[in-house]
Order: sequence, then C-alpha cells, then structure tokens
Amino acid sequence: MSAESTWQDHYGSRIMKSAPTPLARLVRGEGCYVWDDNGKPYLDFLAGIAVNSLGHAHPVFVDAISRQAATLAHVSNYFATPPQLDLAERLLRVSGGDRVYFCNSGAEAIEAAIKLSRRTGRRRILSLKDSFHGRTMGSLSLTGKAVLREPFEPLLPGMEHIDTSIEALEAAMGDDVAAVVVEPIRGEAGVLDLPEGFLRAARDLTHEHGALLILDEIQTGAGRTGTWFAFQQHDIVPDAITVAKGIGGGVPIGGLITFGAASDLLTVGQHGSTFGGNPLVTATANAVLAEIERAGLVENARLRGDQLRRELIALPGVTEVRGAGLLIGLGLEHPSATALSRAAFERGLIINAPNESSIRLAPPLIIGDAEVAEFLDLFTSALEALP
Ligand SMILES: *Cc1c(COP(=O)(O)O)cnc(C)c1O
Repeated sequence: MSAESTWQDHYGSRIMKSAPTPLARLVRGEGCYVWDDNGKPYLDFLAGIAVNSLGHAHPVFVDAISRQAATLAHVSNYFATPPQLDLAERLLRVSGGDRVYFCNSGAEAIEAAIKLSRRTGRRRILSLKDSFHGRTMGSLSLTGKAVLREPFEPLLPGMEHIDTSIEALEAAMGDDVAAVVVEPIRGEAGVLDLPEGFLRAARDLTHEHGALLILDEIQTGAGRTGTWFAFQQHDIVPDAITVAKGIGGGVPIGGLITFGAASDLLTVGQHGSTFGGNPLVTATANAVLAEIERAGLVENARLRGDQLRRELIALPGVTEVRGAGLLIGLGLEHPSATALSRAAFERGLIINAPNESSIRLAPPLIIGDAEVAEFLDLFTSALEALP
C-alpha cells in the first residue's frame, strides 16, 4: 500500500464487493475486548456474531489450538482422530443426540440437513418467511428472506417459506413434507422469538405426518440461550439440529446432530467434506465446550441474560427485549438501529443492527458484572446521542 492509500481503499478495491467496507480494522482481542489499528479498545457485545463464546484469546482456546497444531492438524476423513471422537462424544452428551456429521460452517451444516431430508424420499421442505439458514445455494433456498434469494433464482425446488404461525404450519403440512426447518430464535431477523407453543406444535405435526423436525441451532447453540441448546427449553426432542458458530469459539466448524431414527438416513458415501471434523478444529471446539462446562458458562448466560434484560427494558427508546440468555434482541421505538450501533461503536462498544428496528446483542458467555456495567453505560450514552 502507498502512503496515501488507506486500508479502506485497499478493502474497497481488493475484497469482493459482496460485503460493504467495514467500520474498523481490528488487530487483536483479549477477553471481552478487541482493539483497532489505532489502539482503541471496544467492548465486544457481538462476539463475531455469537461465535467467540469464550471471548478473545482465552488461554484454553489458545492452548488447545496451539497444542493440536503442533501435534496433528489435518488427516482427511480416511482416518479417525482422538479430538474428533472426543468432540462427538461431548456434543452428543450435551444435546442428547445419537450421531454427528462434522463440517466447516453453518451453511454446510444446513446443506447436510437438506441432504438428510432428501433421504426421506420426500421433496417438500418447510421453513419460515423471515428465517436465515445461510448463503450457499442449498441453504439460501431454505432461507426465507426474499431479497437474499431473488438474485440467485432458480434455487432448489420444493422449498416453501411459510408464515410464522401454528395455523400456517398446519395448513402447509402434509404427508409429502420431508422436513420442517426452524430456528428456535431467529437471530438474523432481529432475534425474534417463535409464537408460544410453536415448537411443540411443529413436533406434533411432523410426527403425525412422518416428517423430520430440524432445528437450526447455529446461533442459539453452545449454551448461549441459557441451556446447551434452545430446544431444551421447549420440552421436545427434534430429529436433527444444525450447529456452528459458538461451538468452535472462533475456529470454523459446523455440525449436523441427529436423534433416533434420523441417524440412519445418511449411509456410507453419501456425504463428506475434506476439512470436516479435522483434529485442529475439533480439538479446539472440544476445549471450548469443556471450558463452557467447567466454568458454568451456560448458567452464566442465563443469569447475565436475565440481569441485562431487567436493565434494558427500563431504557427509554427500548420497546421490547427478545431472545433468551445472551442472545438478546431489542425492539426500538424509532427505526434507528444503524445510527445507534454506529454511536455505540464511536463510544467503544460493538453491537449489531440486523434491521432498522432491532438491535442484536450476543456477547461472549464469560461476561461478568464489570462488562454488564460498562455495556449499560456505553449503550445508554449511545441512546442519548440519537436525535
Ligand atoms: C449464521 C447462521 C447460519 C449460516 O452460518 P454460516 O457459518 O455463516 O454459513 C445459518 N443459520 C443460522 C441460524 C445462523 O445464525
């Protein structure tokens, strides 16, 4: 780069135009903070979109990935490795699932779920109109948000996006439905909760019609909502869940976990990925989940979530507090979420505006009193700065 050209110029001319130029260039992180290239710290209440479960540069994360890199990083799925088997064991224990398929991202976990669904011999898959399931062609087909889909049509046939109501689900359900795919909390849509009883109804209807119930726990998993997985708060057992994001604490990982008979649908040779389940990533994810367990971070997510909710609902301009645990959606009185997240950023606080009337908070699961207090200070100040 020449002396006059900034990183913004560089980004704008070299990185694919599919993403807008970011607000800052970050150079390091520690705990709940990240620093930009001017040395300015930011309290990170987004955690890389619900990814950095242990925050940044956590010693457990650093130790696990360093040691595994020095031991055995990758071997392909022609071979088993201890970290892969250990992570499978742990994920199945905390989820109650029976089998797991490992891949490298959320979208890939959804792709695996779509292939699983096709193995029922049926083709219709129902998802919700304001859902987000990823941006690969298959996961995009399932994603409800039309503006994301339309430039890439035609997409996969058989995908139907229904209204988020039990009535709409009842009306769309039939014996030709392979699967119903639902996020327990719709994160990208602004952290929207499902209507009361929706998952119970979805479970009953899918049972009745012999269809799979697949829950997209990519954003809600890894303890973020105050239980290991959000479905565990709804007294149901799904046929499969997709996981990614927070499971790895910062390494790229995804997974499809199946329960019961759905575990037999994919047979030898029907799916795979070169990197999926590699020892570098699975050793790190296993250490992250072990630390979540050891440090009681699932409980912390619930308690800190409750604490934040009590404070947030009392703030002027905040009309609604949604989500569970440390996946928090705020409804705003005025559609000013972009300006609010920018004002927060200027004050050294990272939050996210999934749309103009919603703020999304997804801090690391390790936050304590100090981070909660600082967040409330900075956020209140940002709110007050709005016209
Ligand atoms: C992030 C996300 C995805 C896509 O995951 P990627 O790793 O970005 O491919 C899918 N579903 C949900 C609910 C998500 O939050």
